[in-house]
Amino acid sequence: MQRDGHPPAPTGAQLPPAILLQSDDWGLCAWSPDEEAWRENRQLVSSPTAADYCGSTLESPEEMRRLFALLAAHPGADGLPAVMQANYVLCAPDYERIRAENFRAWHGIELPAVPPRWARGDLIAAAHEGYRAGVWQPEYHGYTHGNTHRLLTLLQQRDPLAHHLFERECWPLHDEVCGAEYWQGVEPRHLARGLQLFERLFGFPARSFVPSCYITSPGLAGGLRRGGVRVLQAANRNGPPPDRRTALHTLRLRAEHAWHRRLARIPRDADFEPRGQSPHGTETPVWQATLARVEAAVARRGAAAISTHRLNYAHLDPTWVEASLAQLALLLKGIADRIPGAVYLTDWEYAQLVVTGASVEQRGPSLVFRNYTRQPCLVCVPPTSAPLESAALTDRGLTVVDARRGVVRVPPGCHQLASAVELPSRQAGTTAS
Ligand SMILES: [Zn+2]
Repeated sequence: MQRDGHPPAPTGAQLPPAILLQSDDWGLCAWSPDEEAWRENRQLVSSPTAADYCGSTLESPEEMRRLFALLAAHPGADGLPAVMQANYVLCAPDYERIRAENFRAWHGIELPAVPPRWARGDLIAAAHEGYRAGVWQPEYHGYTHGNTHRLLTLLQQRDPLAHHLFERECWPLHDEVCGAEYWQGVEPRHLARGLQLFERLFGFPARSFVPSCYITSPGLAGGLRRGGVRVLQAANRNGPPPDRRTALHTLRLRAEHAWHRRLARIPRDADFEPRGQSPHGTETPVWQATLARVEAAVARRGAAAISTHRLNYAHLDPTWVEASLAQLALLLKGIADRIPGAVYLTDWEYAQLVVTGASVEQRGPSLVFRNYTRQPCLVCVPPTSAPLESAALTDRGLTVVDARRGVVRVPPGCHQLASAVELPSRQAGTTAS
C-alpha cells in the first residue's frame, strides 16, 4: 500500500466494491458503568460531545446480539453477511488495588473479568457467537485504551475530578492525555501482554489495529508487527500527540513505518455516528451523509472504510441504541440499493486483495477464498482454520499445493466452503500488574 493509504489495485484484478465496517471501543469499561454514575457524571461535563459519551457504557451480550441480528440481515452481493470489525480493549483499572497502594502503581483487571460495577455477563462468549455467525470480527484497539501513567499522576496530584470519577470506577477521560494509551510512549510490556491476551480470549491473533484517539508513538508499529498485526486502520488519521508534532518525531514515525512496510495501511473514509439520533425526527439523518461519503470513496478508490463507535450501540439510554440501530439498518440498505455488487470484507481480506487480487479468510462457518484476477492464485490458509479437506476443495476446483503450510491454488471467483472453527472455551479472569 502507498504511504497515503490509497492502495493500488493489482494489475488485471477486478475487485468488487468493498465496504469495511470498523468499530472502536468494544470491551472498554467506560464511560459510565450504570445510571447512578451517569446521572452524577453528566453534571460535571459541559460540551455536548462529552455529554453524549457520558451515557456510553460497556456493551451487554443482549446489545451485541441485537447488532449481530441486524448485520446478519444485510448480506453483501456475495451472500455473506455484513461483518463488523470490533476493535477491542482488554484491561480496566483495578480500582481497589490501585487505591490500596495509595495510587503509586498500576494494577489492571483483564477481560473476561471487569471491575464490580461493570458486570454484564459473558462478553467473550457473546463475541464468539458473533464470530461463528460471520458478523463479528474481533480486532485490537489496545490493552487499556487509557494512559496508565497519566491516570496515576492525576490521582497522585489529587485532581478532584479524577478522584470523583475513580470512586465511581470511571477513567478520567475528561483529560485528553489520559484518553490515549500511547500519548506518552509505548509500554512494551502492555503491548505484548494485550496481543497475547487477545489470542487467548478469541482463539486467533489480532490482524488489524487502530490506536486509541488515533495517537501513535515510536515503537508501536514494530511491536504490533512482531505481535502478528498486519493492518493499521485509520492511516489518514493517526499521528503523534499534538504536543509532540515535531519534525524529528514525525521523521522517527515515518522511518519506523517504512521499516515495517508489510503493515498494510487502510484509511478511514466515512464516519457513521448517529449517537441516538432518530432517523425520522430530522431532515438530515446521519446515515444519508455517511452513505454519500461511502459512495464517493467507492467511486474514487473502489472501497470505503466506515468508522462507527460502540457508543452508538451500547448506551445507558435504551432509546438511543434503538435509534442508532434503525440508522444502521438504513445505511446498510442504502449501500445494497446504491452500490451494486458491494461486498463486506474484513481488513485482512481487503489487505490481501489489494496486494495480490486473491484472499482467504474464515468468515463465520465458511472458509472464503476469493480470486479476482484472471488466472489461478496461491493463498495461505490461516493455521487457526479447521484442517483442509482435499475432497471438499477439489469439488470447487481448488487444489492443495502444500498441506503443511496450508497453501491452496484458487481459480478465479469467490468460493465458500463450510468449515467449522474451534474457539477456546472461556478463560478464568486474571489480574495483571
Ligand atoms: Zn477508542
